[in-house]
Amino acid sequence: MTDALPTGAVIGILGGGQLGRMLSVAAARLGFRTHVFEPGANPPAGHVADRVTTAGYDDIDALKAFAASVDVVTYEFENIPTDALDVIEALRPIRPNREALRISQDRLVEKEFLSGLGLSVAPFANVENAADLSTALDTIGAPAILKTRRFGYDGKGQARIMDAAQADAALADMAGAPAVLEGFVDFSHEVSVIAARGLSGEVACYDPGENVHKDGILATTTLPATLTAAQRTDAVLLAGRILNALEYVGVMGVELFVTPQGLIVNEIAPRVHNSGHWTQDGCVVDQFEQHIRAVAGWPLGDGSRQLDVVMENLIGDDMDRVPELARDTSAALHLYGKAEVKPGRKMGHVNRVIGPRS
Ligand code: AMP
Repeated sequence: MTDALPTGAVIGILGGGQLGRMLSVAAARLGFRTHVFEPGANPPAGHVADRVTTAGYDDIDALKAFAASVDVVTYEFENIPTDALDVIEALRPIRPNREALRISQDRLVEKEFLSGLGLSVAPFANVENAADLSTALDTIGAPAILKTRRFGYDGKGQARIMDAAQADAALADMAGAPAVLEGFVDFSHEVSVIAARGLSGEVACYDPGENVHKDGILATTTLPATLTAAQRTDAVLLAGRILNALEYVGVMGVELFVTPQGLIVNEIAPRVHNSGHWTQDGCVVDQFEQHIRAVAGWPLGDGSRQLDVVMENLIGDDMDRVPELARDTSAALHLYGKAEVKPGRKMGHVNRVIGPRS
């Protein structure tokens, strides 16, 4: 542990949402302090962090002061402006590294990177105008999905094209932003691997979880996922390949489509991931502690799955169910302390142990 941060060191976290909150709690459990940088007022992570800076990512002085006050910087979302990262990186290490951010910030670059590693991805093509889209549709065919290259999340910035007649409307949805056309993958279900790599290069992957989305937002993650032993091994090995290629340090979410032809990588997220929340109640060391261990240069912990678990997201009005969930002795509640309930807003999640590990 020569490069390991000592207890009492300060971990800087860019972004103060629920992921930053749960990272702060995990850091505190290991004796670290956290300093959260977040432009919005009253962030969920602010309730549990040691310190919060409320400033924009264009506030150079605030970024410098933040970086100077911490030992290492990590983040809870991938769309951090490059200029802000430049300011921080001049002062402190950023983990996971810039390359992981560069790749995951742009769907086209991400697809090229993944296919360059020999992994299967949906057929894709760069689309900057109507002519590109027409050529792409000729090659890839319909149905297909047009996605903005940058700043997409939870199914936002996406338009389905069921036949060529819908091309113009889909392009209009992109509002002039560069996009990528993806062939429609005929998958049976979706799974994800939460994978971790430590500073000294060791890799540990959690058991893949099976994800169900509703209205583009993750609804549930179920463990174990429906996978053959070979698919489970494939999932974990491909995640390890991605981490090693990036010399990654931290936790990453790797989203996969399961098809009869094998696993297809949908996207990677260079951070702790909503589909990894089950680890809080299914493993000895959860994804948040694992990430903190990695970025602090500590050895990775034991992420083997102990139990069968279902994670359910509490979104918007699901908060009305909290009194009832609080009475449910099989439910481990995790609430984010968000003051305002909005439709589609992630307010918390509940993990239910459904039995001993099957
Ligand atoms: P994404 O934001 O790329 O993760 O997409 C959100 C959801 O849309 C995914 O979880 C899938 O359910 C669906 N989706 C995205 N891309 C494709 C694709 N190429 N083929 C089929 N479904 C897709």
